[in-house]
Amino acid sequence: MVHAIRIHQNGGPEVMKWESVEVGEPGPGQVRLKQHAIGVNYIDTYHRSGLYKVALPAVIGSEGAGEVVAVGAGVADFKVGDRGAYAGAIGGYAEERLMPADRLVKLPANIDYKTAAAMMLQGMTVRYLLRQTYKVGPGTIMLLHAAAGGIGLIACQWARHLGATIIGTVSTEEKAKLAKEHGCTHVINYKTDDFVKGVKEITKGQGVDVVYDSIGKDTFPASLDCLKPFGLWVSFGNASGPVSAFDITILAGKGSLYATRPTLVTYTARREDLLANANELFDVVGKGIVKITVNHTYPLKDAVQAHRDLEGRKTTGSVVLLP
Ligand code: NDP
Repeated sequence: MVHAIRIHQNGGPEVMKWESVEVGEPGPGQVRLKQHAIGVNYIDTYHRSGLYKVALPAVIGSEGAGEVVAVGAGVADFKVGDRGAYAGAIGGYAEERLMPADRLVKLPANIDYKTAAAMMLQGMTVRYLLRQTYKVGPGTIMLLHAAAGGIGLIACQWARHLGATIIGTVSTEEKAKLAKEHGCTHVINYKTDDFVKGVKEITKGQGVDVVYDSIGKDTFPASLDCLKPFGLWVSFGNASGPVSAFDITILAGKGSLYATRPTLVTYTARREDLLANANELFDVVGKGIVKITVNHTYPLKDAVQAHRDLEGRKTTGSVVLLP
């Protein structure tokens, strides 16, 4: 038996319970991973609350790093003792777990477990957002909400490296400072200031090429008003709640806008895409272009507190649980 954080019903952080669970031996195509660090992501709160459905009871958590301790039949890529990391395979908040070997990525020697657990989900998301959903480059002007969050600090550094001008939004002055230190060109406090007005001033009325919106309800439809004609609205999260159904002609009225609602699942569905994404992330982190900021670690058994802090907007950068 090992310990895990499990939910038996959807609800607030208090539904997460520290329990003994049976892990078992890996089946065909699976490995058993002894986890050394586990990432906390906003999506974990959606799985817990029920915004995104999971079969109950469930061990939530979608990201971790550790060593392979057993290998199932037909697994050729991993052997006992290999170091691996993953994102997007639910069952993460556990000391040990089984997982499909084709979702695990070998960890380079220069990346430690804590860094890996902090960056796989957020870093691979930033990679597809900046390199695939919209090809950010010199000349790109982008709006990035929650610029001091986990996704935010990685995106600021990576987009700056690609040559973009980044307008970031944050809710406190402390977060504004942090975003700037990580490469954000302009920062707007969207709690105290009108961010549409701020974007218009900074861009001299032109608007931005792309908006990366992970806030959802509270920033809709204002995010659309920040775009140039033909600009792209990337709605990729719901930190304030989901965007309600809307009349699509709003995109015409605001300048023939494009809209997409992407997810890491699609962008890494094929193993070759997962590896290409992870390798590019390992490369930028290995070269020091992107530094992974872990400002908050908690013992795994204190996942309840980690969720309270994340949802209470108390965290910056990435959040990690240690088994
Ligand atoms: P963050 O560290 O960015 O935390 C969320 C941040 O959102 C907060 O720190 C806060 O920053 C901001 N926020 C704004 N309004 C609210 C609110 N009402 N309640 C809580 N927070 C609010 O989290 P992650 O980096 O883990 O994830 C960021 C977003 O990206 C999430 O929406 C997540 O779902 C999404 N995501 C999407 C993926 C995809 O593939 N589609 C993959 C990974 C993440 P501030 O105080 O500055 O406003």
